[in-house]
Amino acid sequence: RAKGANDVTPSFFEQSMDDAARERRVLAHEMRRALETGQFYLNFQQQHAVRNNAIVGYEALLRWRHPQKGLVPPDVFIPIAEESGLILDLGAWVLQQACAEAVTWQVHQKIAVNISPLQLTNPTLVDNVREALQKSGLDPSQLELEVTETAIISDRERVLPVLQQLHGLGVTIAIDDFGTGYSSLATLNSFSFDRIKVDRSFVTNLAENSRSHSMLRTILALGKSLQVSVLVEGVETVDQLTILAQEGCAEVQGFIYGQPAPLADLLHSVGLPHEEASAKTSS
Ligand code: C2E
Ligand code: MG
Ligand code: MG
Ligand code: MG
Repeated sequence: RAKGANDVTPSFFEQSMDDAARERRVLAHEMRRALETGQFYLNFQQQHAVRNNAIVGYEALLRWRHPQKGLVPPDVFIPIAEESGLILDLGAWVLQQACAEAVTWQVHQKIAVNISPLQLTNPTLVDNVREALQKSGLDPSQLELEVTETAIISDRERVLPVLQQLHGLGVTIAIDDFGTGYSSLATLNSFSFDRIKVDRSFVTNLAENSRSHSMLRTILALGKSLQVSVLVEGVETVDQLTILAQEGCAEVQGFIYGQPAPLADLLHSVGLPHEEASAKTSS
């Protein structure tokens, strides 16, 4: 376990802060080259209908295979890419790549792409989305953009017209990690969106915790009254899935259906152990 603050001498603490800052600078620098040299790739995670387990979509999840460090998790490199601004180029690459792969592999379900807050307030986003659709030939209605509630309320004046323009292109908008931001429902209601993705923290204790259960029930009711679809993230167990089914949840995503993997592997179910699964279990 980590030591308490009292166990750490100030000089050691300062030293490790420096190390962390230096490491971030190194990663920011390396990431630029990584984009040019093809170290990034996409894994996809299936989204399922609860009713019949049918696949209703695939979420693209960005991966960085670092030549020395191996797989760097997105929770580490995405914030750094946001800080350095590289997320704009990286995000444009993700859009192109996700659309192109969907067409290559003849996916007929939705393809969901995560959009970072910086992209959402940048004027290039609409052009990037339009270009990714045109270059790939993907049907716009197949593309879903995942944005967080914190991102959309951060700069209301800028984001509102962007979301309108995106809708104008024919793509749909999902609110990711729903329930973890600080937006009021009234504010959220002034934006038009098509789907709510409930954060997995609501599912984690579902079977044991009656509060989580009530919250989920309330969010599902909210989706119904707003007439937007609700997808619950992070479903790992049969118990959780059973409760969600009882509550009338229509769509889910989670490890219960397997780990994120390259689209080709998911479509052809080659049955080989994926890099990601082995990386997770060995850590
Ligand atoms: P997210 O968009 O909420 O994606 C869902 C995350 O939850 C993914 O982590 C996925 O692997 C993980 N997950 C899915 N099912 C389960 C489950 O049953 N249990 C648990 N414990 N986890 C589950 P991942 O791939 O590490 O991505 C983390 C975050 O990084 C994403 O959260 C998203 O915010 C960000 N991210 C990933 N790819 C991109 C991207 O292309 N662009 C941007 N801007 N952000 C991205
Ligand atoms: Mg997402
Ligand atoms: Mg999420
Ligand atoms: Mg997230």
